[in-house]
Amino acid sequence: MSKTIIISNRLPLQVSIENNDLDVTPSVGGLATGLKSFHKDGDSIWIGWPGLVEEEIPSNLKDEVQKKAKEENCVALHLNSAEIDGFYYGFSNRTIWPLFHYFMEYTESDDDYWRYYKQVNQKYADEILKHYEKGDVIWVHDYQLLLVPNMVREKAPDAIIGFFNHIPFPSYEVFRTLPWRDEVLKGVLGADLIGFHTYDYERHFLSSVSRILRHQVDFNEITLPDRIVKVDSFPMGIDYKKFEQAALDHFESTSADQSELQKRLDHHLEATPDAKMILSIDRLDYTKGIAHRIRAYEYFLDKNPEYIEKVRLVMLAVPSRSNVPQYRRLKREVDELVGRINGKFSTVSWTPIWYFYRSMPFENLIDLYTTCDIALLTPIRDGMNLVAKEYIATRTDKTGVLILSEMAGAAHEMNEALIINPNNFEQVSEALKTAFEMPKEEQIERNKMLQKRLRRYSVEKWAEDFMKSLRSTKENRDSFK
Ligand code: UDP
Repeated sequence: MSKTIIISNRLPLQVSIENNDLDVTPSVGGLATGLKSFHKDGDSIWIGWPGLVEEEIPSNLKDEVQKKAKEENCVALHLNSAEIDGFYYGFSNRTIWPLFHYFMEYTESDDDYWRYYKQVNQKYADEILKHYEKGDVIWVHDYQLLLVPNMVREKAPDAIIGFFNHIPFPSYEVFRTLPWRDEVLKGVLGADLIGFHTYDYERHFLSSVSRILRHQVDFNEITLPDRIVKVDSFPMGIDYKKFEQAALDHFESTSADQSELQKRLDHHLEATPDAKMILSIDRLDYTKGIAHRIRAYEYFLDKNPEYIEKVRLVMLAVPSRSNVPQYRRLKREVDELVGRINGKFSTVSWTPIWYFYRSMPFENLIDLYTTCDIALLTPIRDGMNLVAKEYIATRTDKTGVLILSEMAGAAHEMNEALIINPNNFEQVSEALKTAFEMPKEEQIERNKMLQKRLRRYSVEKWAEDFMKSLRSTKENRDSFK
């Protein structure tokens, strides 16, 4: 029987080692839950890096890692620290990530990084080929593995290969600056179906293919000498029921079950019942517009001093890629900004920003989503932004206001949110005022529509739609012959 082979940089499980003991826990990310229904049926395997560099895994535990991975139908691909530095922190996160998010000034062109990127992509492709049998469907994920589709195609010309890009694809004028643009496009074009979150990313990709490689592009199909490649948009959703249910459970729980965080949040709600809480949650990444957001909030407080003591920004920044210098610099900048603004506005009984620099367990995320009246998500560029969708899914009484950057992929599906340009502080400040003053009925009306859409286009539906479209490319191929 044919199977599905899923490949992503990271496996949907976390391996950690403490006192020479191996611990494997499933990860809770969107991709892992989205593909769960395919994966757990036992007719698929998932290949990826288990999250620990090879040198950190004692040799006596290596087989154990593989055994544990196998129990989850996963295959662990080991990468050493030089590979992680060159391929992951290097080419993936210092070249592709900034370039694809329009941060050209952060984009590094380093031959060594490129060499490692090719080497590790080949390693993934070789691992796929070890498991591939005729008739299998291969689904490659994300910007770390752009070369994999064609590397597999070279050895398995008949394979059905899908590729999904989880980050933006930049406009041709930006993409063309990449020294390895031809190789990258040819790598992806090994796939039969290439998916993006939005039509704009799809359009940018098609335009790069037609202008750089001069292939014929008709509507959303690219004609290669031997095949047709289909390109389409599939906006990724969330596990809606999981977030909705968690919020319902949260409201049913007794005060004895409450988390410490919830107790603190409640304490503040009781002390200042007419004050509102604004939530922001992101990885600490320069694409997320965290520094802009704090400055816009300062602008808002400067302009509207009547909101002093009436509003609090609860800001969760999750540590990310701290091996890359720009991320370390951003951390310093955010620390300083928070300190300066808290120093400038704080009163004896109030601080304008509550800043958490850590990741939080799921239960605490639900505490934050359900407690905060407003979510302020202002990325400068963001492939999708799942936090925006999760916030809406947890608003079971349908109140709450989402302020969302138009630069996030999610904005295309969330028109009922207050959509802003994150660089326009005046507009962000006005949106905050609108959010404070928005009548409950209007909040409910907007969220009703948003919830209906999010419930329908869940992450399971996303995976299903992609796989259906990928399988149908086989018919295209047969008719091309
Ligand atoms: N998240 C998490 N722990 C945290 C904060 C956030 O697991 O402490 C999750 C959040 O629920 C969401 C994801 O991280 O599913 C962030 O996804 P998003 O698309 O917003 O941004 P990305 O980090 O993928 O750029």
